[in-house]
Order: sequence, then structure tokens, then C-alpha cells
Amino acid sequence: MLRTLLELQQLDMKIGAFRQRELEIPRQKESFNIQRNRLETELKESEERVKKLKLEQRDCEGEIEQKNVHIRKFESQLLIVKKNEEYKALLHEIDLQKKHISLKEERILSIMEDTEHAQMKLHEDKKRIADEIRKLDEECTRIDAELAQAVKERKALESTRAPLAAKVDPLLLPRYERVRKVRTPAVVPLVETNKQAEACGGCYMTVRPQIVNEIMAAKVYHSCGHCARLLYYPGNIELPPDSVDS
Ligand SMILES: [Zn+2]
Repeated sequence: MLRTLLELQQLDMKIGAFRQRELEIPRQKESFNIQRNRLETELKESEERVKKLKLEQRDCEGEIEQKNVHIRKFESQLLIVKKNEEYKALLHEIDLQKKHISLKEERILSIMEDTEHAQMKLHEDKKRIADEIRKLDEECTRIDAELAQAVKERKALESTRAPLAAKVDPLLLPRYERVRKVRTPAVVPLVETNKQAEACGGCYMTVRPQIVNEIMAAKVYHSCGHCARLLYYPGNIELPPDSVDS
């Protein structure tokens, strides 16, 4: 009976859909992992920015400290030099060091401002990234559960396959198995084209009227001459009850 074959096809398509999902889920998880790594890198960069600014500030402070040591040294030398040129040279050096110090102090002010912004950004990044990672983790947990469920349901469906296949006309079953390896669905109804002719419901090529008549008479099984799918006339078959969702 072709109807049993259609039931088998429906079962195979459901099994196929689960298998497809079982292949997709690991790929989806892979993309979630990539997203998670990207977020973690983003957070690290935000932390690095604050650290770098603080380091630069410490460097500037160290340099100021050093220049002050130089100034104190020059100032003590002022007290002992005899020559006017030497005295002038020292004053010039002190002046130079003070100018450098004031530049560094300006730099520190701008670093402090940048640090404040970077810390604010880091604070926001931490919150946002933790939130996004939590969502990714939830999604991973959800699809893990979906995968386990898909495997379970698929195995349950697969266990019903052999008994159902045993009920299919032994002439039809090998033909069906051969075609479904390359084309799904392998069994298709005749469909009416806009030229009022009957066509294959798989490849939509017209089927010769003689063949159509024989299919309608349900005496012989015919395959489409173009795509090799098995053809049936829908009017001859009471479809399985849940065929609408397949
Ligand atoms: Zn065809």
C-alpha cells in the first residue's frame, strides 16, 4: 500500500529533521563560543586601558620626582659656584627642569581625566559583558537540552521504523530507499499545472497522460521520468492524519 509508504516517508522526514538539528546545534554552540571569546577579549582590553593609564601616570610621577632631585642638586650648586656663566647655566638648567615638570603635570591631569573615562567604560563593559555572557550561557544550556531531546525523540522514532517498513509493499521499498538517498521527498503526488496537465510534484515536469491514467487507476507504480521520484494520485490515498505538519 502506498499509504504505508507515505507514512514511512513522513517518519523518515521527521527523523531527518532531528538529524539535521543534531548537526546544527554543535555549530551553533561553536558560534556562541566565538562570541563569548570576543566578549572576554573586549573586557580584557577595557581593563588593559585603565592599567596602562595608571602605569603612565606612575611613570610621570616618577619622572617629576627625579627632576625635583636634579633641581635640588642644582640649587645647592648655586651656592658654591664662583663664575657668573656657571651660575647662569645652573639657573638655565633649573628652569629647564621646571618646564619639564610642568609639562608632565599637565600630562598627569589629562591622564587622570582619561582614567576616569576608562574606569567608567570598564564599569559599564563589565556589567554589559557579564549580562551578554550570561545570555549566551543560558542559550547554550537551552540548546544542549534541545540536543538531548532531539536525540531521544529521533531514537524513539527510529525504533518504530523497521516494523513500519516491513508493512510497505516489498516491490516499492527498495525503489523508495534508492530514490530517497538522493531526493527527499522520494514519493510525491501528481500536481495540476496551470496548463491543466498533470506534473510530478517533485520536479514539476509534465507527466504523460497515459502514465497519469495508470497512476490514477492505481494499477501500476510509476516513477517520474525526469527525477525518478515515485508518483501517486492524491485522490487515491487517505493521507495519514498528521501529514499536515511534515
Ligand atoms: Zn519528477
